[in-house]
Amino acid sequence: MSNVMSKEEIKKEIERLKEEKNAVILAHNYQTLDVQDVADFKGDSLELAVAASRLKADIVVFCGVDFMAETAAVLNPDKKVLIPCTRAKCPMAAQLTPEMVREAKKSGYPFIAYVNTLASVKAEADICCTSANAAKVARAVAKDGVCFLGPDANLAKFACKNGIKVIPVPEHGYCYVHKAFQVEDVERARKEHPEAEVIVHPECDLEVQESADFVGSTSQMLRYALNSECESFVVGTEIGLIERMKREIKDKQFYPLRRSVCVEMKLNTLENVYLALKEEKHEVRLDGEIAERAKKAVKRMFEVLD
Ligand code: SF4
Repeated sequence: MSNVMSKEEIKKEIERLKEEKNAVILAHNYQTLDVQDVADFKGDSLELAVAASRLKADIVVFCGVDFMAETAAVLNPDKKVLIPCTRAKCPMAAQLTPEMVREAKKSGYPFIAYVNTLASVKAEADICCTSANAAKVARAVAKDGVCFLGPDANLAKFACKNGIKVIPVPEHGYCYVHKAFQVEDVERARKEHPEAEVIVHPECDLEVQESADFVGSTSQMLRYALNSECESFVVGTEIGLIERMKREIKDKQFYPLRRSVCVEMKLNTLENVYLALKEEKHEVRLDGEIAERAKKAVKRMFEVLD
């Protein structure tokens, strides 16, 4: 049926189904604008999981990748969490396994699981962090000034502040979308847009971070662009955020540092959002004990940041 429906008809049907089923749609900042159009809430992965727990809904359609939907399910055991496309799996999250966390912890130092990990990994960690709070979490939990963080090695380096040593596990874990940015891109951007500020994500290489004017999570970048007196920005993150910035901050200019796309994020389409909601399919199911332990790691992050 959906293949003969226009985009506008699908959007209308989605709105009708949301009402009928008491459902909400959450979309990560990297989703396409079409998917963002039908979302009740947009944000980074943790903002979305927290939003899900505050919304009064029976069903949550989570438009993001596997670990994000799992985090939403961990924080919302009483809701049915659906993911539009089961192939939307983050390649970086897959780089860290529960065994690797257990092995690192044998040293006696605490392990911080980036929120970009599966629930089975969070369950083994002492605490979680996001790209917005990694340094604060590291400072709060490090033992004798040392802790582990995985899977993103660039985020671990970014969190090495105030004399805290943050050891990356695995040693070279990375997000291919952010790894694509080079210092040469920053140099070229500064020549092409000398009036612009360069803002990048902490999953970028350290040299790229050091050559930028601001480093922050997607939500921090969005806020920075809104509040800065500067009127144009070169943005080093996935293209979906830049599209959102262009649409929502109309009086400022945004240029991609380089066009970098997360293929897995884009597997969620208007059509499969509609089908997941209509058929209530692709429910995220987690082992109860793993979900409980993962929840502790996420909750501890909120506690130490209070
Ligand atoms: S942008 Fe990177 S970290 Fe985010 S889902 Fe894609 S591969 Fe994973």
